[in-house]
Amino acid sequence: MDCLFCKIVAGEIPAAIVKKTKTFTVFNDITPQAPTHILIIPNQHFENMAEVADADPALAGEIFKAAGEIAAEIGLDSYRMNINTGAGAGQSVFHAHLHLLGGRSFAWPPG
Ligand code: 5GP
Ligand code: ZN
Repeated sequence: MDCLFCKIVAGEIPAAIVKKTKTFTVFNDITPQAPTHILIIPNQHFENMAEVADADPALAGEIFKAAGEIAAEIGLDSYRMNINTGAGAGQSVFHAHLHLLGGRSFAWPPG
């Protein structure tokens, strides 16, 4: 399968890896939208996070837990987790991922 994030998990495409476990990989986004912009992805290919939660709820939980732990390690007291699902919502890589964004303020609701 020709999947960018599967290649990052396999080490075939370089990335600034923050953490890697048997089940998920954490790396810096190549086009950061905030001072901290980290992606957390399952090592196994799923199209989106809803599919992860459906197929393997424990893995979905691990990914959320990792996001909170990494935010704490970095010292972020406020942060945003973002999950774009479907092209219409801005998903551009169809390997499940959670964005962890921090280090600036985020207006809500978006204007
Ligand atoms: P999406 O738009 O699918 O929610 O998020 C995909 C993210 O992957 C984007 O924020 C984009 O900047 C990031 N991205 C795309 N290609 C690469 C790459 O080759 N390396 C890294 N580290 N991030 C990438
Ligand atoms: Zn993949």
